[in-house]
Amino acid sequence: MFSATPFNFTQEEQDLFDSLLQDSSSTIRVLEDDRTIFAMRNEDDSLDMTKAYLELPPLWDTHMHLLNYANAKQMVSLHGTKSVQDCIEAGKERLKTFTGEFLLGRGWNQNEFSDQCFPTKADLNLISTEIPIIFTRTCGHVAIANDATMKRLEGNPHPEIDWETGTIIEAGLNELYALIPSPDVPTIKVMLLDAIEDLRYHGILEVHTDDFTALSDRDYEKVIQAYTELDNEGKLKVKVVQQCLLQTKEELEGFLQKGHRMGQGTENFKIGPLKLLLDGSLGARTAYMREDYHDDTGNRGIRIYEDETLQELVDMANEQGMDVIMHAIGDAAIDQAMDAIERTQKKYPRANARHGIVHCQITSNDQLDRMAKLNIVVYVQPIFIRDDSKILVNRVGKEKASTSYNWKGMQDRGIEVFAGSDAPVVEFDVKENMKWK
Ligand SMILES: [Zn+2]
Repeated sequence: MFSATPFNFTQEEQDLFDSLLQDSSSTIRVLEDDRTIFAMRNEDDSLDMTKAYLELPPLWDTHMHLLNYANAKQMVSLHGTKSVQDCIEAGKERLKTFTGEFLLGRGWNQNEFSDQCFPTKADLNLISTEIPIIFTRTCGHVAIANDATMKRLEGNPHPEIDWETGTIIEAGLNELYALIPSPDVPTIKVMLLDAIEDLRYHGILEVHTDDFTALSDRDYEKVIQAYTELDNEGKLKVKVVQQCLLQTKEELEGFLQKGHRMGQGTENFKIGPLKLLLDGSLGARTAYMREDYHDDTGNRGIRIYEDETLQELVDMANEQGMDVIMHAIGDAAIDQAMDAIERTQKKYPRANARHGIVHCQITSNDQLDRMAKLNIVVYVQPIFIRDDSKILVNRVGKEKASTSYNWKGMQDRGIEVFAGSDAPVVEFDVKENMKWK
């Protein structure tokens, strides 16, 4: 995991680690012979092996979206924008050299804007009214579309499309992204190779990645084929475990009927657990809460599944020997995940089951006790603290904030805590992640 503690350093090594972590010109990188080195950087960006450096064990990122990252690399980056105007300028700048069909952007965060307002359709129309434009929020749970895009959605009755503002959220995004043409397997392979280079550049040798819905046609067979071919060609230079996002009973049934099971694959590419989304994000106030948002009375966020539907999915996977890991950020979503895990463990007990909760941010101590009892694995994103610490107390109040993001409380209870970046929600720079332990 991304934490200084499990490395079992001597005091001297720990001191070196701490000083490298603080130094902006140090980096963690995988070298050709698969050694992961934490060292100072030379001016030409190579590693300075003449100064003291550390050799680290292979580093894993246990939850990210590698193919989305590869996609996002081709988009207008809106990370770090400080206003809607900044977003418009970035879009206009890209348009100068743009040749594709859809102008896509990712990374805006209204909490960084002085007026805290989402961009709207009208703002994106200022970039172009002819080229379809979609700008997705940093969390990936909200997107804004311009008129040219909205026109292509015309007649779509989905309730999560706001025609007035061009705001599309949660499941409505599936309708939106279905408009974008999907790449073929050779193109996906090129995109992945580029992303894998970046992983190694940041010291990562294994990723657990959720890619099944990264393509607009959501054709997971293409994703599996791309990884498998890369491995057969000896080009897959990181180990990859696929966290299989299959959100409906029909999708999961189809997947299992084709014979896919957890653990299958090649040495470097494996089918992992079933991944489910139970709620939204804290930033967008769509994480599902036990109580109203402290800064939005009457709103408890979004619950994606009825308990029964969720149970069916969890049982279907568990019965076939497939672990289930659930995106749950709000405390009510975390309760829902634990209820489903507890019931399925009673119905189909598996001694080696590793069911998990991804993100697991807003928690109370009683929930951590229950997590430990149920032997649940937690996938956290230390780097989220950097952004979320600015909004946490506003969203949930002081008291709840004091028991949330409690990685230490989890570890103290013997809960296994794995770290990841959730890239491209934020960057997968291991060094950045290790600062927020
Ligand atoms: Zn994720």
